[in-house]
Amino acid sequence: MTIAIIAHDGKKVELIQFLNNQKDFILNNNIKLYSTGTTGKKATKAGFEVNKLQSGPLGGDAQIASLVVEKEIDMILFFRDPLEKHPHEPDIFMLMRLCDVYDVPLATNPATANLLFDGLKSKSEFK
Ligand code: PGA
Repeated sequence: MTIAIIAHDGKKVELIQFLNNQKDFILNNNIKLYSTGTTGKKATKAGFEVNKLQSGPLGGDAQIASLVVEKEIDMILFFRDPLEKHPHEPDIFMLMRLCDVYDVPLATNPATANLLFDGLKSKSEFK
């Protein structure tokens, strides 16, 4: 299971909080994490092992989109900040579009992420 994590600046605290709440589940199931640069630094600080790509505005979202195309990503947690403008908006839309093209589950807020994780936990292959 490989999950990509991304959070806009205004949502990074919420994403790290979510990861901390799910820490046992993530570690016990050897879930592999990919992230954009700054999100990854924060997740590493919180004690997670993360494959960090470029920062979002420098192409990190595009790199994750390319991993979606390669079928390397099973789920994306992308906590977006709807109240801010983002210079890399075209990359963000590309990533979301490709999740729909390849049918990859995408949570853009904590409520949806919790439901996705509940779904994972109900599967027998997860501890
Ligand atoms: P960041 O990128 O993790 O490098 O901040 C996230 C984004 O803005 O897409």
